[in-house]
Amino acid sequence: MIPPDLVEEVVVNILRTAVTTLPSDVVSELQKAEAEESDEIARTQISTILENVRRAGEIAVPMCQDTGIPLFFVSGGCISEIEDAIKRGVVRATEEVPLRPNVVHPLTRRNAGNNLGIEMPHVNYSPGPRDYVDITVMPKGAGSENMSALRMLVPSEGIRGVKSFVLDTVVSAGSRPCPPTIVGVGIGGSSDIAMTLAKKALLRPLNVRNPHAELQALEEELLAAINQTGIGPMGLGGKTTSLGVRIDMAHCHTASLPVAVNLQCWAARKASARIFLDGRVTYSTEGFW
Ligand code: SF4
Repeated sequence: MIPPDLVEEVVVNILRTAVTTLPSDVVSELQKAEAEESDEIARTQISTILENVRRAGEIAVPMCQDTGIPLFFVSGGCISEIEDAIKRGVVRATEEVPLRPNVVHPLTRRNAGNNLGIEMPHVNYSPGPRDYVDITVMPKGAGSENMSALRMLVPSEGIRGVKSFVLDTVVSAGSRPCPPTIVGVGIGGSSDIAMTLAKKALLRPLNVRNPHAELQALEEELLAAINQTGIGPMGLGGKTTSLGVRIDMAHCHTASLPVAVNLQCWAARKASARIFLDGRVTYSTEGFW
């Protein structure tokens, strides 16, 4: 069994890393966009983002004032013990990093001040190998999360309907999700499965190809179309509206075609740890692929 104190410590570490360090695949895409942008205002926006990320890393402070809500993805291990340790780690990280206490009751808006609440931190669990546990945190800011969208398409709308819904969502979001974004898309399953797929799709690094050839082609086509909208970095124009499109899918009912979009702002923060039964820990900002 992995000691709960170790899990708690790891949670504090990955939360600190996630809010202060942008994964290298995202930094690389931002640098590439900076080099390729012909629009001066767009290039200045990207340069400012990169400078902000560099300074945040140097002095170990959050790269954005909105440190998000604590979303965790866990595979392997014993979930009940891990969940308790994650909660304690979130409380500590809120004080020690510090993180902005963003978690409130949905109706009264009461804030406990420690980022805990019903279903918060939220843990997505999937069974995995028994000799280690992987814990990934994705602190999700509200600006981009508020632009999430779900549509239950009629199956006859098919791939054209999917493309048009994704593009409409990005265009109507405009500057609000703090572009350049990463666009997570979930296709199939049911309404809730599609939303989860859209969020989980954001975990795949920008330099890892989709294992399904048809989804890989769709990602490339949608990215090209999104970057022709002219929204640009922070909505001020330019050709870098998104750094990538990430799509996951699930089989669905013959009478359904759910499609979900989850937008991720430029602050595409995540950090992972693999904890082995013997107490060894490996950290990564790109996850374990
Ligand atoms: S959407 Fe992202 S970059 Fe914009 S304020 Fe929220 S966390 Fe920060």
